Amino acid sequence: MARCSVCGKPAVYVNRAAGLALCQRHFLEYFDRKVRRTIRKYKLFRPREHIVVAVSGGKDSMALLHYLHNLAKRVPGWRVTALLVDEGIRGYREYTVKRLVDYAEEHGIEYHIARFKDYVGYTLDEIVRRGRELGLPYLPCTYCGVLRRYIMNRAAREIGATVIATGHNLDDIVQTFLMNILGNDWAKIVRLGPISGPASHPRFVRKVKPFYEVLEKETTLYAVIHGLYTGFEECPYAQMSIRWTVRRMINELEERSPGVKYSLLRSLETAINMLRRQGIGEPDEEEGLYSCALCGEPAAHPICRACQLRLQLGIMEVSPEKLESLPPEARRMAESALRLSEERSRRR
Ligand SMILES: [Zn+2]
Ligand SMILES: [Zn+2]
Repeated sequence: MARCSVCGKPAVYVNRAAGLALCQRHFLEYFDRKVRRTIRKYKLFRPREHIVVAVSGGKDSMALLHYLHNLAKRVPGWRVTALLVDEGIRGYREYTVKRLVDYAEEHGIEYHIARFKDYVGYTLDEIVRRGRELGLPYLPCTYCGVLRRYIMNRAAREIGATVIATGHNLDDIVQTFLMNILGNDWAKIVRLGPISGPASHPRFVRKVKPFYEVLEKETTLYAVIHGLYTGFEECPYAQMSIRWTVRRMINELEERSPGVKYSLLRSLETAINMLRRQGIGEPDEEEGLYSCALCGEPAAHPICRACQLRLQLGIMEVSPEKLESLPPEARRMAESALRLSEERSRRR
């Protein structure tokens, strides 16, 4: 059995790439050092912050809530609130909502739940069904990703957040990096840094990733140690996604040559720097270039992605007068989305 490199007690954590083995106590110290170093290095937080932790109920975001709640006790200007977006996936979401509510009440943490149903009128299950009926070319994760981000930003702003912290770990980030390379989507790669978003748009709440340099196996162990991991994790739609395959592939590579994940993260940073220098996909030019002509939220186009999807699904009402009053480019986008929806409905 491996022994702790610091004190010689039985190790609970082994990192082959770093030649490191740690007992529980020294793992927790190592974890804390790593996250604090990330926060300092990338200047993720300011002296006064209302931090909204985006909680999915999964182990990573629960670990982040636990971590930041405890860290904030030592920082006088910080306040931490949990925010969960409930997309209404039956047989999955009920459990994670309960996990958050139980945990928050036990630790006296403020929390909010923002429901798809309240913000867009439909649950994700209903939206996925409708998209299938209409034959729209999207995977469930597209609807979920776009609408979740949209609702997260709106709800966080309504709560008064100055920053949103998400539980993305190193594994998540390098998976997305690889997926974007596969899709030749370099503008998205620029946004994979530890701080993201069009900070200059008045309605945008900036997003930070305190677990940017932390491996998934580390956030998992941290969650297990603090009793935040109950094993019920995977979204039922996850296995339909490309991410599933990419994740398995990277894990196999890491198994064969330890350190590949870190190396991918460094490649990502190099890519971000090179892209920035060329002015490709600067955050301010991307998502915050427009205010959506229909809902007013920050958008990369005259009509935001969330409104485009809602129009295509036929779940958003736009009166002829409203349509008439839109600027030309926005009007064209809205009309083509509405037309698509109508054509598909007629074909059924
Ligand atoms: Zn030790
Ligand atoms: Zn919109």
